[in-house]
Amino acid sequence: MNKKVRVRFAPSPTGGLHIGGVRTALYNYLFAKKYGGDFILRIEDTDQTRFVEGAEEYIIESLAWLGITFDEGTHVGGPHAPYRQSERKNIYRQYAESLIEKGYAYYAFDTPEELEQMRERLKAAKVASPQYNSITRNSMKNSLTLPADEVKARIANGEPYVIRLKVPRKEEIRLYDEIRGWVVVQSHQIDDKVLLKSDGMPTYHLANVVDDYLMKITHVIRGEEWLPSAPLHVLLYRYLDWEEVMPKFAHLPLILRPDGNGKLKKRESGGILTFPLSWHDPITNEDYLGYREAGFLPEAVINFLAFLGWNPGTDQEIFSIQDLIQSFSLERIGKSGARFDAEKVKWFNSVYIRSTDTQKLLPLVKNALSQRNVTGFSDEYISRVIDLMKDRVVTIPDFYGLATYFYQEFDQYDEAMKQKQANAENIQHWQALLPQLKNLNIWDATTIDRIIHDYAEINKVKIGKILPTLRLMITGVSFGPSVPEIMALIGKEKSIQRIEKALLLWTQPTG
Ligand code: GLU
Repeated sequence: MNKKVRVRFAPSPTGGLHIGGVRTALYNYLFAKKYGGDFILRIEDTDQTRFVEGAEEYIIESLAWLGITFDEGTHVGGPHAPYRQSERKNIYRQYAESLIEKGYAYYAFDTPEELEQMRERLKAAKVASPQYNSITRNSMKNSLTLPADEVKARIANGEPYVIRLKVPRKEEIRLYDEIRGWVVVQSHQIDDKVLLKSDGMPTYHLANVVDDYLMKITHVIRGEEWLPSAPLHVLLYRYLDWEEVMPKFAHLPLILRPDGNGKLKKRESGGILTFPLSWHDPITNEDYLGYREAGFLPEAVINFLAFLGWNPGTDQEIFSIQDLIQSFSLERIGKSGARFDAEKVKWFNSVYIRSTDTQKLLPLVKNALSQRNVTGFSDEYISRVIDLMKDRVVTIPDFYGLATYFYQEFDQYDEAMKQKQANAENIQHWQALLPQLKNLNIWDATTIDRIIHDYAEINKVKIGKILPTLRLMITGVSFGPSVPEIMALIGKEKSIQRIEKALLLWTQPTG
């Protein structure tokens, strides 16, 4: 590539950033980094009616959490500032007016009632999709139908108007999509889109194209939902005489629900998370749990999202961000929708937790503990719990949820396991072993393990018979890390107490 790659993520601050938007940002980031290009954050907030307080901050915080950084943007500045479209309002009008001068756009004065009447008329005439277009514009109030001096007078009088693109009647619009190949659209399928609204604000189409041009964007990588707008954008580039520097287009496949039935929604059942960080929707007052708060590591979410629509063409699944930058290419992005797989993201998370340094996990686990009011444990103690549990957890809160016995006493035992283990024979073995454990001066996993093994050997009892009983007494559950390791960590006093308590409970006559 000869030109410096410049790509942008251009969200509208209309709510929390959905996971699909995060994927779009990620692919742009990977593409920019791969080619040593620039990555720009542009906030497309021209539709003031849809503006949501806090959305921009949420977008920035989410991407920062994931390690997706920008070279230019609302929060970091840059040579093309401002990067918020509402602050660029004055830029767009001149382009809309230049299109009028060249005969590619026109003023339209139709009131909302007149537009409604037009739609009703067309519906009555059985027109499938009533539109303001090359045919209907001729019977509307615009600078193509009204005398020139009336147009001038209306504008001078401050009458509200919009500027519409004059889409040709019969033209084939071809655009090359880097993922889909040639896309051909007939111009009669496109209506005369509004470019400048009556409040003076540009619409998405005008602002998007003008800014991509001014910000020297080389590649537009965005969701498939924007593909229908792309032919219109091609027309705009052509009419503005920018076709030579028109960016390349790549429309990413949709993210589908796990069963492939439709697009992934904001709210999904089955524990599917669709937001990077927890989000409170101020409009609907709904709360969404985020990946961060649910105890996912950003590296795992990145790896998972990278595969939602892209694949490296090999069996390798674990990719650090650096690996992704190296391997990423638009050619390996699929055309068809990518199914969201809730189990897969959990799998990635467990893999990443396992390979993450305990000291890096420590603050996250401490935070999860304090949220559950579990306090009073040293960093060293928690670190050892992390070491023991690391390859058994899926999310950070599991360092508590699957490991409560490291932090607190209990008197409930796994019922099925108790039925199996709390029999007279096992109880009697542990009654015999208990004094030996009590007598130990050295309390570490090796010594505890040796005492149990020696006992099993001398008494000709299988270790696999008595050890599960010990696990139940020490943890209350049927699975977990090595029992002697757990006992070494919780200490002699607690270990002995738990055994004594279980033996007592299990030998009490049941009423
Ligand atoms: N503002 C659009 C959005 O919210 C940007 C689409 C594009 O990237 O062109 O997704």
